[in-house]
Amino acid sequence: MNLNETPRSNRLHIGFYGRRNAGKSSLINLMTGHKTALVSEVAGTTTDPVIKSMELLPLGPISVIDTAGLDDEGILGELRIARSKEMMARTDLAVLVIPALSTENIEQEQLWLSELRSQNIPIIGVLNQIDKVDPTHMTSLKERMEKELGIPFILVSALNKSYRADLLSAIVQNAPTDFESPTLVGDLFSPGDRIVLVMPQDIQAPKGRLILPQVQVIRDILDHDGLVLAATTDKLPELLNSLKEPPNLVITDSQFFKEVEILLPKTVPLTSFSIVLARNKGDLGLFIRGAETIENLKETDRVLIAEACTHAPLTEDIGREKIPRWLRAKFGKKLQIDVVSGIDFPKNLKEYALIIHCGGCMFTRKQLMSRLIEADGMNVPITNYGLTIAYLNGILDRSVEIFINKNL
Ligand code: SF4
Repeated sequence: MNLNETPRSNRLHIGFYGRRNAGKSSLINLMTGHKTALVSEVAGTTTDPVIKSMELLPLGPISVIDTAGLDDEGILGELRIARSKEMMARTDLAVLVIPALSTENIEQEQLWLSELRSQNIPIIGVLNQIDKVDPTHMTSLKERMEKELGIPFILVSALNKSYRADLLSAIVQNAPTDFESPTLVGDLFSPGDRIVLVMPQDIQAPKGRLILPQVQVIRDILDHDGLVLAATTDKLPELLNSLKEPPNLVITDSQFFKEVEILLPKTVPLTSFSIVLARNKGDLGLFIRGAETIENLKETDRVLIAEACTHAPLTEDIGREKIPRWLRAKFGKKLQIDVVSGIDFPKNLKEYALIIHCGGCMFTRKQLMSRLIEADGMNVPITNYGLTIAYLNGILDRSVEIFINKNL
């Protein structure tokens, strides 16, 4: 599927609203990292609303709606305001932009807020051009606006790139829940396809149950009319031999990539539960780029391993024992590896050459995306367990081929 054909329901539509010259277009350019919108000192440069679709790391496919000023004048101005109001029906998340020096008369903003609220659209406020305000007044200004308008505000100077991460983070945190990706694997196969799951029931699996990613993947395959076949690693040859034709897709526990890969014909798509989660909860492109930087690691580097839950460490724990052992075997015994779990996530990310995250099955997409934005904002590569293991086994390309072939 071509990027611009991504169904609207899968694409977050972000509408920027505010008066003429509030800096909406500059803010859009800050968010996208390049000149997406026409910026001018002349008030009212954005006439009719403009919708642009794009892939924006780490948010994924989005559409940006740049609207005319809500204080537009004259007969044409009224028409433009009417067109901007029509855009609300297409807006999943509204960004209300107010210049930090124009916070006294906000009746117009109040009116637009009630229109947006009546359509149940989540809203974030941006106090823009804060470089023009006395820094000692910023906190009280933000608090006053939040109280008067009843929405969360962030402080931004659209001309300063360092505010981009704050803006992206606020967008992710306030995006509607249906921004969560609708399927785990349903778009990787056709109805009736045979999907083999390799699920070792070893010491790491809870007694009598399957782990959450396995349960979620099985449910998603059934929901999309696929045929689920499952085996433990040792029974996989038996299962494959029993099939008249090779499976259409194999999803394995990442720890057994190597064993599974050698059993499969090269034509059979192979990936892992953790990589499936990487796409669903995070941003697969960013994670792949992170995995590709593993080869640059040096023995003097520091690596962060982040687990999203606080399970008691197990013997041969993947995050605490296996991955550190494999990395040290490849890059040197002195490689420093810190492990954090649960909601702990260091502020000093710049000290790390690489972050390796777990699948994050206990996290919402918003939670994981916030970490991605934080890492990406500091230019620290981030990847996940599955992609790291695929890289260390020399099968990174194969493990993500199905997503790339399907342009997902
Ligand atoms: S949150 Fe992370 S560490 Fe915890 S079970 Fe899920 S993938 Fe494993």
